[in-house]
Amino acid sequence: MTKSYTCRDVGVDCDWKTNAKTEGEIMAAIQKHAAEVHPTVELTPELVGAVRAAIKEV
Ligand SMILES: [Zn+2]
Repeated sequence: MTKSYTCRDVGVDCDWKTNAKTEGEIMAAIQKHAAEVHPTVELTPELVGAVRAAIKEV
């Protein structure tokens, strides 16, 4: 099983997507991407929850 995430899944107008084997890895990749590409997006607990909910098993 691979975990998959795209920014569009949380309503961000961005085609970036990533895959990882563990939730820790994918959250780290998402946080790095958010800091680099979406510096104005604040990773609130609500948004982190939405991001977690948007991660799919593929
Ligand atoms: Zn993005």
